[in-house]
Amino acid sequence: VPESDRVGEEGKGFTYLLDGLNPERLLIAAEALGLGRASVRRAVSYGNERVVFGRPIGMNQGLQFPIADAQMKLDAAELMLRKAAWLYDSGRPCGREANTAKYLCAEAGFEAADRAVQMHGGMGYAREYHVERYFREARLLRIAPVSQEMVLNYVGEHVLGLPRSY
Ligand SMILES: Cc1cc2nc3c(=O)[nH]c(=O)nc-3n(C[C@H](O)[C@H](O)[C@H](O)COP(=O)(O)OP(=O)(O)OC[C@H]3O[C@@H](n4cnc5c(N)ncnc54)[C@H](O)[C@@H]3O)c2cc1C
Repeated sequence: VPESDRVGEEGKGFTYLLDGLNPERLLIAAEALGLGRASVRRAVSYGNERVVFGRPIGMNQGLQFPIADAQMKLDAAELMLRKAAWLYDSGRPCGREANTAKYLCAEAGFEAADRAVQMHGGMGYAREYHVERYFREARLLRIAPVSQEMVLNYVGEHVLGLPRSY
């Protein structure tokens, strides 16, 4: 690569690459959050509309509580995502927060999607209700672009100061 095409300073390439990973984590966290929000919306809509044994299924706490729980976890994960994005936009270090946001949003998004499928019963597998797609897409975000285990490794080593585990 000719010097004229070099990005930044020599010897700092890996640092630049790592800097690019934080916004990617934020982007994926936002995707997971959006999937979770869409899942909750559809679960609520179906819970209000589907009548079984003479009452809307959303009246049953067995279905209502998991969706309320998912909603709160999405709210909490969103706060971490917003903090990480604010740090990144301010040009400050955000490795801890970006990783944490990716982890929490991926978990909250997946849980919301799973519960939305449950709310839909068998219809959870019907394409027309979209939640099966949210479920598949939310599942991926626990693996890529960085797996949940590697986020835990990062926090264990770099945030908590425990020995590197791999
Ligand atoms: C649909 C899709 C799109 C993708 N797009 C891209 C892309 O655009 N760019 C890109 O670079 N990559 C992409 N990837 C790759 C993705 O980043 C990797 O799949 C992911 O980082 C996991 O790596 P791996 O598949 O090699 O799993 P492996 O490294 O083989 O790990 C397998 C499992 O073991 C766990 N594991 C491994 N080591 C440890 C350890 N020490 N402690 C605890 N758990 C451990 C992992 O977390 C994982 O769950 C994509 C993957 C998919 C599925």
